[in-house]
Amino acid sequence: MRPRLILCNKDFEKMKIVMLGAPGAGKGTQAKQIAAKYDIPHISTGDIFRANLKEGTPLGLKAKEYMDKGSLVPDELTLELIMDRFTQPDCKNGYVLDGFPRTIPQAEALTKALADNKDEIDYAVNVEVPDERIIDRMSGRRACAKCGGTFHIKYNPTKVEGVCDLCGGELYIRDDDKPEIVKKRLDTYHAQTQPLIDYYEKAGKLKEVDGTQDVDKVFADIVKVIEA
Ligand code: ADP
Ligand code: AMP
Repeated sequence: MRPRLILCNKDFEKMKIVMLGAPGAGKGTQAKQIAAKYDIPHISTGDIFRANLKEGTPLGLKAKEYMDKGSLVPDELTLELIMDRFTQPDCKNGYVLDGFPRTIPQAEALTKALADNKDEIDYAVNVEVPDERIIDRMSGRRACAKCGGTFHIKYNPTKVEGVCDLCGGELYIRDDDKPEIVKKRLDTYHAQTQPLIDYYEKAGKLKEVDGTQDVDKVFADIVKVIEA
């Protein structure tokens, strides 16, 4: 049987966390650390779309049409994908969601799917970073083609340039990290995703952290709000 994870007299078994924040705010970077610390799966819809694209599946090719433009993949397609992911056995232990939900209908669908099982998310953690910092973050982002690890040429450089520290895979620049697409993604974020901050605040789930600090400090702040 899986041992129960008990920290600070609080039971973190089956914890469900939503990561909020602009593209490039550091959601993925933090979600990976949260997943490791609390032994829950890290579920990134962006990673799933990219994995499908790499395999050339119809879903991946369809998603690419939207990703390349800096737009969101339609809710219907995204919801089908995530609801299927939730049926996998590892989700019984909770999860940290990175990049989902990204629209109010997605958030409502998540709330309803959980409520149908008398469940709910525990926290929505908003990693707050102003737009002017985002451009810098995304232009320096490098991703591993093999394991999905994320680095930054200035803020989180790899030991050997162009080579993943985690698995030795080759690093690449995401197509949607080009400056003209980044601007469109930020517009998309403000129009469609930012309203989720209000949605989760009204639900009493919102926790805010200052994402402009270094990676370790942001993580320490997230742990503090989760374990408070
Ligand atoms: P998101 O998942 O929100 O799109 P990422 O986690 O991929 O964002 O981070 C975007 C880029 O910024 C990456 O290159 C990452 O290494 C870097 N980064 C993440 N957190 C920080 C931070 N606190 N300070 C500086 N750079 C960061
Ligand atoms: P990310 O890796 O989270 O930055 O996502 C990359 C791209 O995938 C986004 O710009 C969207 O085009 C698409 N995407 C990821 N998650 C979602 C989602 N929940 N809803 C719609 N589109 C998404």
